[in-house]
Amino acid sequence: MHAFDYVRAKDLSGAITSGSRPAAKFVAGGTNLIDLMKSEVERPAHLVDINGLGLAAVERVPGGIRIGALARMNDVALHPLVQQGFPAISQALLASASPQLRNMASIGGNLMQRTRCTYFRELTFAPCNKRDPGSGCAAMEGENRTHAVLGTSSSCIATHPSDLAVVLAALDAVITLHGRDGERKVMATDFHLLPGSTPHVEHALRHGEVITAVFVPDAAHASHSSYLKVRDRSEFEFALASAAVGLELSGGTIRSARVALGGVGTKPWRSREAERALIGKSPATATFRDAAEAALTGAIPHEQNRFKIELAKRTLVRSLTDLAGGAA
Ligand SMILES: Cc1cc2nc3c(=O)[nH]c(=O)nc-3n(C[C@H](O)[C@H](O)[C@H](O)COP(=O)(O)OP(=O)(O)OC[C@H]3O[C@@H](n4cnc5c(N)ncnc54)[C@H](O)[C@@H]3O)c2cc1C
Ligand code: SF4
Repeated sequence: MHAFDYVRAKDLSGAITSGSRPAAKFVAGGTNLIDLMKSEVERPAHLVDINGLGLAAVERVPGGIRIGALARMNDVALHPLVQQGFPAISQALLASASPQLRNMASIGGNLMQRTRCTYFRELTFAPCNKRDPGSGCAAMEGENRTHAVLGTSSSCIATHPSDLAVVLAALDAVITLHGRDGERKVMATDFHLLPGSTPHVEHALRHGEVITAVFVPDAAHASHSSYLKVRDRSEFEFALASAAVGLELSGGTIRSARVALGGVGTKPWRSREAERALIGKSPATATFRDAAEAALTGAIPHEQNRFKIELAKRTLVRSLTDLAGGAA
């Protein structure tokens, strides 16, 4: 492993100062970063432990809930405020990783985790534009069964692996960041970036900035929301396709709708096209199928992942059907 020094930050300003040094990295649960350090994909010179910052609360604030960035995935999943007001968040977290990992892994780290594309982690034989900009993309002609069909570019087709991030994109969450210039807020939908020609630039976080919290607004479609994840095995596996959906139904009509897809996009994939296809309609299979067609418009498959287009459509139709109480 590459040599590094370690400091445990005592407060936020100390963390920002230490984390702003060149080649510094924050560590929270370490479940993603330490793995990548062992394989030398990540080679920080300074590791800044932020676990002492006291950012682990889940609390009600005006208009919604605030989840501290250092709250552990399991604690958030089982929190009554989350289970009652935002069931899709709880379901996405419980469908992630394993109980041991969820007890270690933090919310901020979950949003920042890096792709599971095999070539990204394989230093010895595979070109990868995300790991080594300009080197090429081994997945284009190689193993791409688990890769993205939405938001891809000629430089990278890797999916974003987080389940939680898909729900946060659907539910209009806002991420709070603190850095040398103070506090700023970024919509969850804008936090992760499309690969374009710079797939190594993955998110809106600036070097030295700490994610401190996630705010999720109250809404009827948030308290009536769900997350459905389809994967190769039922535990300890990333999504082949997933759907985060929220519906406000009244008088047999869909008043508001939120839709985001996981496992198929290079970033958590909010589909406003699908939402437009749902709003004002009655919950029925034909409506849900229209929404699914709208969501996957523009999908571009590669040799091994064509099946994901139909899988994602069926995942979305099933999740909407279940959420509408089988009304379809
Ligand atoms: C076998 C396995 C299966 C998994 N399955 C799933 C799954 O199904 N679904 C899923 O969503 N995830 C899954 N994961 C990923 C797991 O959820 C992440 O590893 C975890 O959430 C990362 O959180 P952490 O606190 O350990 O982050 P760390 O490893 O500590 O950090 C990860 C990155 O985030 C940065 N970071 C952490 N906190 C902050 C912060 N507050 N501000 C700024 N930067 C920060 C670090 O610098 C680092 O770059 C799996 C992981 C493993 C190992
Ligand atoms: S898909 Fe992206 S992460 Fe995977 S090899 Fe290509 S550039 Fe690298």
